[in-house]
Amino acid sequence: MTVPKVMVWVNKSPMRAGWYDGLMDDSWLTDTPWQVRLLPNMVGLESRSLGEINTIVIHATELPNLAKARQFAEEIHYPGSQTGNSGHFYIDLDGTVECWVTPERVAHHVKGYNRPSIGIELVHPGRYPNWLSSEHQNWDTPYPEAQIEALIDLINQLHVRLPQLHHIAGHEELDQTWVAASDDPDKKVRRKLDPGPTFPWDQIYTNTPLTPLIARD
Ligand SMILES: [Zn+2]
Repeated sequence: MTVPKVMVWVNKSPMRAGWYDGLMDDSWLTDTPWQVRLLPNMVGLESRSLGEINTIVIHATELPNLAKARQFAEEIHYPGSQTGNSGHFYIDLDGTVECWVTPERVAHHVKGYNRPSIGIELVHPGRYPNWLSSEHQNWDTPYPEAQIEALIDLINQLHVRLPQLHHIAGHEELDQTWVAASDDPDKKVRRKLDPGPTFPWDQIYTNTPLTPLIARD
């Protein structure tokens, strides 16, 4: 498969001829409240019908900024399909929302639950840069209010567009794998901890119609 090399553009910029052929509905690309900056490797992702989507999965990038997240998302991890790992939407610290993969493609953002879900990634340092160090599992950075307000707005926009969207989950709930710590193989740490203990779940439940995919205590 040939993938165009340059693919950085935003809403209403001219699109590269033929590149987005096969997208079912280009209303996700134009006339949107979010910036569109599709990943070059999106073309290799599987298509799905929007009616299959029932859950939003919340992630933290565990990276210091959006540029670093972009770098990771552009990496190819699956040579066969020439695709990588990313969410569909990214929200920066100041509340800027960007769409990197349209919802009608299945993005690789959570093990075992990609097909029916949309991944939303919040820029947040998490455990960066010692993700799996046993000495570095504290998660104490709050999410800025502007970022959370943008998330609530995005969830409500998606709820209007996606008839079967009813649930929300954190990545940490769907991937509860423990792995050997990077500094001490005898210790175990959580592979995924995002969006972590500082994520304001109550604020999301109060301000969106979504309910938890997995019942919470
Ligand atoms: Zn995640």
